[in-house]
Amino acid sequence: MSLFEKFNDLAQSRAGLGDQHVAPVATPIEKVFSATEGQINGQRTILAGTNNYLGLTFNQEVLSAAHAALDEYGSGTTGSRMANGSYHAHQKLEQELADAWGWPAAMVFSTGYQANLATISTLAGKQDYLLLDSDSHASIYDGAKLGQAQTIVFRHNDPANLDRRLTRLGDDAKRALIVVEGLYSMLGDQPPLEAFIEIKRKHGAWLLLDEAHSFGVFGEHGLGLAEARHCMDGIDFVVGTFSKSLAGIGGFCVSPHAELDLLRLAARPYIFTASPSPAVIASTRAALNQVIHGQALRDSLWRNIEQLYSALNQMGYKLGSEQPGPVAAIILPDRESALAHWYGLLEAGVYANLMIPPATPKGLNLLRISLSAAHSPAQVDQMIDAFGRLQAAA
Ligand code: PMP
Repeated sequence: MSLFEKFNDLAQSRAGLGDQHVAPVATPIEKVFSATEGQINGQRTILAGTNNYLGLTFNQEVLSAAHAALDEYGSGTTGSRMANGSYHAHQKLEQELADAWGWPAAMVFSTGYQANLATISTLAGKQDYLLLDSDSHASIYDGAKLGQAQTIVFRHNDPANLDRRLTRLGDDAKRALIVVEGLYSMLGDQPPLEAFIEIKRKHGAWLLLDEAHSFGVFGEHGLGLAEARHCMDGIDFVVGTFSKSLAGIGGFCVSPHAELDLLRLAARPYIFTASPSPAVIASTRAALNQVIHGQALRDSLWRNIEQLYSALNQMGYKLGSEQPGPVAAIILPDRESALAHWYGLLEAGVYANLMIPPATPKGLNLLRISLSAAHSPAQVDQMIDAFGRLQAAA
């Protein structure tokens, strides 16, 4: 009996991905030339699976801010926000995030994963309820596991199903925290946010919106889906990440409730970990400024989205979402064809994400492209050509 025996199924599943020269999961990227190009398996390759929606990872202002902070403040804070890891810049970033939403409270975390762990496990306590969309990201489910609230899962993007579950709670629904995402990253679909807000109000419940993938992409100032749908006043907490449109690593929560600040005293994933490094905070502040004033970047991103979605639809590919967005999830009939597509795209110089069960909803086999404002129309054409050739060969 070995401690590792329980991983046999996982090991077998990984072995089933073939003994090819380059692995389709955790694929090593040997060099990075820009936000959209790198080297994989010795070949210059378009990076089409990065979540780098605004392409800010090589933005000059973002890089300069990080370099300056590295020189001025050193490589790390070597401590938690509650001890020696609270620099002026952490507080400034929190103020800038709060100001962006026009809300009184913001907290910065070391990753988006920890932002969800901290908020979800702490906001909903022993006497409270969590209502989670079934397609929620692992960090949301893990936040529920870390906390003590009773967790109820409702059907994906189904307001009527949520309504029924809250109705069953009666007056206790006032102590329920509903969690939904602004853009679901596996299928690229969006929630019926207005309907969820209506139900939240009807029951006097609370709503946390994870805008990890929608921040930077939607809304006049890039604040996310709630801004785009003009319903920010229906949201109690927005969680986000620095690791996508903000081109760094870290996470945040902003809220119209000033009491969010109390989480600093109670949230273990905030208290018992080191704060983000000075360079990351500086690059994130510069990137936040670019996001807020980033309409030109969003225009480029949406041009790329239209180009790819309409071509894939014309070719008859089945997509995870009818609504175009920065994630194009191509649903393939089985694991073998998903793998064949992944290798075919790589040979054509395009790196996408292979997504297979158990990571995917409904056991789907997916090939996922995430678009960037930094992709040129010619790069999107190269992606489209590659899909065209794969389809012709099938
Ligand atoms: N929420 C969602 C919806 C995500 O997709 C992710 C990461 N993919 C996270 C939270 C966690 O973000 P981070 O990478 O900053 O830990």
